[in-house]
Amino acid sequence: MKVVLQNLTKVFPGRNKKVNEEVVAVNDFTFTIPDGKLIGLLGPSGCGKSTTLYMISGLQKPTSGKIFFGDDDVTELSAESRGVGLVFQNYALYPHMTVRQNILFPLQNLRGKDKLNKNEMLERAQKAAALVQIDNLMDRKPSELSGGQQQRVAIARALVKMPSVLLLDEPLSNLDARLRLQTREEIRRIQKETGITTIFVTHDQEEAMSISDMIVVMKLGLVQQIGRPQDVYDDPVNLFVAKFLGTPPINVFDGRVENGRLYIGEDEVMKVKGVEDQPVTVGIRPEGFTPDSKGRLVCGLNGVEIMGRDVSVVSTHPASLNPVIRSIINADNKIDTSAETVKYSLKPHKVFLFNKETETRIYFEVK
Ligand code: ADP
Ligand code: MG
Repeated sequence: MKVVLQNLTKVFPGRNKKVNEEVVAVNDFTFTIPDGKLIGLLGPSGCGKSTTLYMISGLQKPTSGKIFFGDDDVTELSAESRGVGLVFQNYALYPHMTVRQNILFPLQNLRGKDKLNKNEMLERAQKAAALVQIDNLMDRKPSELSGGQQQRVAIARALVKMPSVLLLDEPLSNLDARLRLQTREEIRRIQKETGITTIFVTHDQEEAMSISDMIVVMKLGLVQQIGRPQDVYDDPVNLFVAKFLGTPPINVFDGRVENGRLYIGEDEVMKVKGVEDQPVTVGIRPEGFTPDSKGRLVCGLNGVEIMGRDVSVVSTHPASLNPVIRSIINADNKIDTSAETVKYSLKPHKVFLFNKETETRIYFEVK
């Protein structure tokens, strides 16, 4: 089922009527979520991810704008009649019920043509449990399960109604690192197997990048960029997006463009055609540095961290806006760790320029 968001906006009024402190939690969000895809909704805490999800689910009403499921306008429909499956960060299972009863629960409220008999319900619950691989735990209570297992029950409970859309709000936050990794792969597998259009909310860029067909990056209620994870990483529209994606994060410098040349501090590092003279903020991805005795970017060498196939070189530069620069270099490059400096040439497609005030991207041609 494709999901269309049309100028979706949510304003929360301030509590104090005298001062205007209303919050625009979601601001004019327009996007068509393609049928059968997994979309990662990504951004820092408070940027409007959950509010967007609640509006899609029907738990909150938009201040303005519309939501369509397929061709149907569902903006005024109640949450129950939208047929969405919802999974929250805190699994919210019924503690006194068994796993089976928890999963069965949403089916017992079905009315009219959707009503199922007991055997049909049990069959459906069994199938949903098998999909998330907890069908051997059906008689346990939630307190007798690990966090990961509890979250699977919550996912099974969301899937049992065969929802047209699955909404997941930071579903992995309460799990430890290993389980998080494993469960996110599970979610991807289940999503692919069922083909359910899924929106996955997270503040963790790596999580979103790794499982999403497309990501939506938000900041303060405003969509910044939408695209395939790799495309957004390779081609961020502004400094916020560039900084939000990537581990280690992008390295940021004070720079300027003069006569078609890019300067970082006093180092003339690259030709940049088609950019007017101006001060700029320069972002360089960690993989954008090549150690080079003739390299123009001269950095103070702090040390080298071995990571197996790659090494991470930690260095400094007077124009760096971060305390240290982290560059990821293939381990075949021999770095003289006793040297005081390291010189780099730069890979132009890993170097991004941004307007100093607006922080929007400034595009350049190489040579
Ligand atoms: P996220 O899920 O990205 O962390 P939310 O969607 O929960 O962000 O919140 C977005 C903004 O809206 C925040 O500034 C939050 O404080 C505000 N907000 C969320 N829910 C309410 C509410 N019920 N009343 C007032 N403000 C709210
Ligand atoms: Mg949230």
